[in-house]
Amino acid sequence: MATSNGKKPSQNISVYVRVRPLSKKEIDTRLQSIVTCKDKKIQLKEKLYSFDGVFSPASSQLSLYTNVVEPMIDDVIKGYNCTVFAYGQTGSGKTFTMSGGDSQCDENWKNDVDAGFIPRAAGNIIEKINLISSECAVRVSYLELYNEEIRDLLSDDVSNLMIYNDPQNKGSVCIIGLKELNVMNKTDIYHLLSEGMRRKKMACTNLNANSSRSHTVFTITVHNREPNENGEDIVKIGKLNLVDLAGSESMSRAGTFNRIAEVAGINKSLLTLGRVIKALAEKNQYVPYRDSKLTRILQDSLGGKTKTCIVATVSPASSNYEDTLSTLEYANRAQ
Ligand code: ADP
Ligand code: MG
Repeated sequence: MATSNGKKPSQNISVYVRVRPLSKKEIDTRLQSIVTCKDKKIQLKEKLYSFDGVFSPASSQLSLYTNVVEPMIDDVIKGYNCTVFAYGQTGSGKTFTMSGGDSQCDENWKNDVDAGFIPRAAGNIIEKINLISSECAVRVSYLELYNEEIRDLLSDDVSNLMIYNDPQNKGSVCIIGLKELNVMNKTDIYHLLSEGMRRKKMACTNLNANSSRSHTVFTITVHNREPNENGEDIVKIGKLNLVDLAGSESMSRAGTFNRIAEVAGINKSLLTLGRVIKALAEKNQYVPYRDSKLTRILQDSLGGKTKTCIVATVSPASSNYEDTLSTLEYANRAQ
């Protein structure tokens, strides 16, 4: 059986598109919107695409969270690994969707309608496990990947962290020295998120680096201790990875996924992620996880029994036509 977008129901990759509102600058320069959203379809000029969901510029942060992330939360608590990606050109709303609006570090964050996936998911997980009688712990880590180098955004140490294959857990990696901090409540999460975002900004300024070329991975891990039928304690570990990807603009210049693109300086992790998702969607035997750091880090959370969501963010403005087309094509290939 196939659904309306030709997908098999068993497939574990869901793809959504979110269109941001026209910015003030775009309105002032009289740029027109060239996309139309209707139900699960999006039209860009004469092309029509369908996805698992399409969110118009009027969609709230809450409705995105409820439709995209919330359905994964129980799986994470049960011990499964899930991943949500924000993919799109710089300025299309990836960070807004993942972390939230600019006001989120405000004292009043509790009522913040602009809060993104990270604070909502972490808050939701903490609320849910507080209702469960078993012993649970929630830990978070936050890393940045720039030029295939890993940096801890929860630490002042700026050194490049190394990855090793985890000998105890095949298909997983250990990132040596990456901080994993316990969180008890929403305040802890907001504090860590804003500290991490501040470090990211600062490092970019110091290194004169372009922050749109880095990926960030915020991981929420749930350790759930429960007795089994023999009365022995077993610990189930589930993870939710919330990934704010590097700007996809280099991908539209590269055209298709080919070898030459790598030579042309296209972001290696972004390119490999496209290949990994394509291989998973096509149920290929070989999945090239090992070809980039991002896909190595996420290997235990992509494919197999995991769930993956991609939110492709686009601008509606006519001036962004090429990048919007490229993002919709990438998203379409992933499903
Ligand atoms: P990216 O991370 O993809 O580079 P941002 O998330 O920083 O893009 O978004 C660029 C600007 O547009 C920011 O000022 C952000 O607050 C605003 N923005 C993005 N998406 C939305 C949205 N859905 N609603 C309102 N403002 C948005
Ligand atoms: Mg951003």
